[in-house]
Amino acid sequence: MRAFMRRSAGDLGVPWEIEALLPTVLSAGQLAGAQRFLDGLTRRAFHEQSLPQRARTLALAWDRGPDVKRRLQQVKILTLLLFYALTDETGRNPNWPAIGYPGPVTRPPTAARAPKTIATLSASNLPATLDVDVCVVGSGPGGAVVAARCAQAGLSVIVLEAGGYHNEQDFRQLELAGLRQLYLGGGLMTSESGSIAVLAGSTLGGGSVSNYMSCIRTPDAIREEWARLGVADIGADDFPARHLDPVCERLAINVEATRANGTHKRLRDGLDALGLEHRVITRNAELHDDARYCGYCGFGCQQGLKLSMLKTYLQDASDAGARTIVNCWARGVLSAGGRARGIEAVLADGDGSRRRLIVNARAVVVAAGAVESPALLLRSGVGGPAVGRYLRVQPAFSVAGVYDEPVQAWIGQAQSLVCESFRDVVDGHGFLIEGLGVFPGFWAAGVGWEDGRRHKEEMLRLPRTASFVSFIRDHGAGEVVIDERGRSVVRWDLDDPVDRELAVRAHIETARVHAAAGAAEIYTLHGKPARWRRGEDFEAYAERLRAASYGTNDILYFTAHQMGTCRMGTDPLTSVADGRGELHDLPGAWIGDGSAFPTAPGVNPMITIMALAHRTSDHLLESLS
Ligand SMILES: Cc1cc2nc3c(=O)[nH]c(=O)nc-3n(C[C@H](O)[C@H](O)[C@H](O)COP(=O)(O)OP(=O)(O)OC[C@H]3O[C@@H](n4cnc5c(N)ncnc54)[C@H](O)[C@@H]3O)c2cc1C
Repeated sequence: MRAFMRRSAGDLGVPWEIEALLPTVLSAGQLAGAQRFLDGLTRRAFHEQSLPQRARTLALAWDRGPDVKRRLQQVKILTLLLFYALTDETGRNPNWPAIGYPGPVTRPPTAARAPKTIATLSASNLPATLDVDVCVVGSGPGGAVVAARCAQAGLSVIVLEAGGYHNEQDFRQLELAGLRQLYLGGGLMTSESGSIAVLAGSTLGGGSVSNYMSCIRTPDAIREEWARLGVADIGADDFPARHLDPVCERLAINVEATRANGTHKRLRDGLDALGLEHRVITRNAELHDDARYCGYCGFGCQQGLKLSMLKTYLQDASDAGARTIVNCWARGVLSAGGRARGIEAVLADGDGSRRRLIVNARAVVVAAGAVESPALLLRSGVGGPAVGRYLRVQPAFSVAGVYDEPVQAWIGQAQSLVCESFRDVVDGHGFLIEGLGVFPGFWAAGVGWEDGRRHKEEMLRLPRTASFVSFIRDHGAGEVVIDERGRSVVRWDLDDPVDRELAVRAHIETARVHAAAGAAEIYTLHGKPARWRRGEDFEAYAERLRAASYGTNDILYFTAHQMGTCRMGTDPLTSVADGRGELHDLPGAWIGDGSAFPTAPGVNPMITIMALAHRTSDHLLESLS
């Protein structure tokens, strides 16, 4: 314990790690800003100040405007993430024993026990040009469904995936390894202003490999709304039977394997005490899913029991003859005579060298996720004026409860229970409440930092901390643009009045559930956390939550649900693709992922993405027949 309280980030080499990381996560402009900020601290001899002086300097800096606040957040997030997530030569972090975190509990299986069975083409043997019927960019839930259905229909299919091929043999139950292997931008991506952390999958299988398996069907009200917005077939009575049921069946979604862990037991207790309805979440897990190892779900399922795209549609595509190229980044869509005719991609060879690959195709399916699909179209100069606009993120807000008894929120299934009582708060917009795992690096990065001692005392309570998360069906929108190098830039701030109102309400109701569940203390992820202690007046706390700032960098929130940036619709000025999913301005190019959503669905989106991709593949197959 003493060693933990005394240990500094410098003792673990965190500053050097940050120095190496910053250029990989920041644009050139952002990097220059971060350097100026750090140089400014050095000029003030920050490193020579005593600990209390440093805490005062940082507290004063916090109030010196949005730019400084943003830099402080960046440095804080990286420092604390690394302080708890870096591992030594034994594969462990010295802070874990003090905070009661077990680290990895099992070793990955051998390659022989967990073979990689999806057929991939090796970069070193590839010719410079390939000819196929369909080229799918991105292998997440959307791209995987289209690839499987096209291959099963007898077409030749190539899937290009920017990430690598990682399966059970690679999953180490470690935060940093998981982020680096499975997430876009190594899991450190944020919006340009720093307002929101952007979590998206980037590996063979996309987000389905690291996601929490909550499988919630498209609400009828959303199907009706999208039908009015021009999405073909979605309003039809047979849409569920034709497109939703097949994907749910292929993923074998079930409630039988779902078990409540420490977090979800508190969530259930609180909801019951308040008389709020809740239900068990259906998940795409094998029935013998072993909850003891499930906490590490976000870093890949080492047991191989998550029925991700690797186990389902990508395997089906492979079995039907589709071929996949991993570590292959699609740079642009090629066109000729007003039609899409293929993809230009950059291949990373095993030796670190890069080379160009041209895939000639009769149809191109853009399914690179809602951050990268618009970037691909923008680099290609196609898609029209709506490309990148209408970004929906379903922002997620975490509120912590500290309980008297251990919660150990890193054990058990990441999500098992959902409360839909607040689904419609303002004009069809509202929020769901679910539970969330707590991991030391992530949690430390997200919680407000007041001073070193308070931070460490907070971390000592980690085993008793439960995080409830609410995510809202966003009414406002952000956008994805590209920078001078053609790289995606996410622009999003909580500036829509309806979304702000929902954010405040979501915080209050989530905190109320903690209070009803018996939490001894509740706190938010504000830079200066808003706290309530048992015995205090909850309504007075609710007033404080109402009055708190939800502005950029005043509070940390995240998105795991990006959508809408290549949306379908009837008007080429406000949508990118027609109601069937084909680009208005480039026949032969189709949108196959969550970027095709016209608005946010208000539920965890994977099943809807897959059902829509299932439907889009019908139209694509018809167009090629
Ligand atoms: C931590 C986490 C938990 C989640 N939990 C749930 C949940 O429980 N339930 C649920 O419904 N949803 C959940 N989601 C969301 C869900 O996983 C995503 O909505 C879904 O994966 C999006 O599917 P997609 O096909 O649109 O794109 P993605 O899954 O993002 O796949 C896109 C793929 O394209 C690749 N790519 C990007 N650019 C290029 C390029 N230029 N060239 C080639 N390839 C490219 C990427 O590497 C990626 O693999 C979660 C997401 C995260 C991150």
